[in-house]
Amino acid sequence: MGKFFKKPVGHDLQLEVFFNVIKKGESEGRAFLFHGPEGVGKKFSAVYAFASLVCESKLQYACGECRRCKLISKMTYPELRVLEPSGKGGQITVDQIRENLLLIGKYRPIEGNWRMVIIDEAHHLNLPAQNTLLKILEEPPESTIIVLITPTPWVLLPTIRSRTVDIHFRRLNFSDFVKVMQDNGIEVSQKDYEMCFGAPGLYIKMIEGTADEYEDAEKLINDLIEPGSKILNAYQLLVSKCSDQKTTLSFLKTTKWVILHKIRQAVEKDEEQLKIEDYIHLYDVCYQAMRRVESGASPSLIAASLSTWKWRKG
Ligand SMILES: [Zn+2]
Repeated sequence: MGKFFKKPVGHDLQLEVFFNVIKKGESEGRAFLFHGPEGVGKKFSAVYAFASLVCESKLQYACGECRRCKLISKMTYPELRVLEPSGKGGQITVDQIRENLLLIGKYRPIEGNWRMVIIDEAHHLNLPAQNTLLKILEEPPESTIIVLITPTPWVLLPTIRSRTVDIHFRRLNFSDFVKVMQDNGIEVSQKDYEMCFGAPGLYIKMIEGTADEYEDAEKLINDLIEPGSKILNAYQLLVSKCSDQKTTLSFLKTTKWVILHKIRQAVEKDEEQLKIEDYIHLYDVCYQAMRRVESGASPSLIAASLSTWKWRKG
């Protein structure tokens, strides 16, 4: 059995809630909102739960051996769809919602009793897409489970939230974190755990793909914080990193993460309070900038305002 079909670690309660709602079979119970920190296993849990529902073994959980389980593990099962930001500015558009959700309720699933549509990074649903989705959620299509996944549920319309079953995922405790990483063949320490805030997905991302982004974030923070800060350098770096909404958000997220790490280091080394306060302030500035980009502010505006944050600190 591949690691894909090991039951997600640390989310027993969340899966139990999911299966209980499905068992009740109420149509209003077929749309879920999986939210909680990035990288803790929300999407994996959704896919695993779906596999458990359609698995041919009829065991309680997905067997990982049958044809359906294998197709699902390759994400090629016909009744499992994943929508992600693909529109202009990294949005999930109304067309994506229509194409994937509007008509499917008219047909029975090709096989199995259920289909699942995952809307990943649901905070990127633009307003028209949210409104269309809202209408669909009023009467969810037959045999269809819709799962919205996001770390920031508050950016969704309250009416969407009220029509979905709210399932809150939490960061893993240390021993669960170690277990997940061991399954991935990675040895970790308490320090690694703290660095990624108990989110295995974030840890893997950190050590694998985004090393460049971390280096640039570090450079940016130094340019912004150190005495005689190099505003022009910071601005140029920001402009190169903030080309569209998606890349801007990704870079700001990494920057926030590096700042947190620096705060922790500074506290450990007992550095001067003023410097720590600067980090905290800069963290807040990044956080606000992310919120503004998410609500549609232009990335170039963000680049300008971030690089001059110290002037405006007052
Ligand atoms: Zn199976």
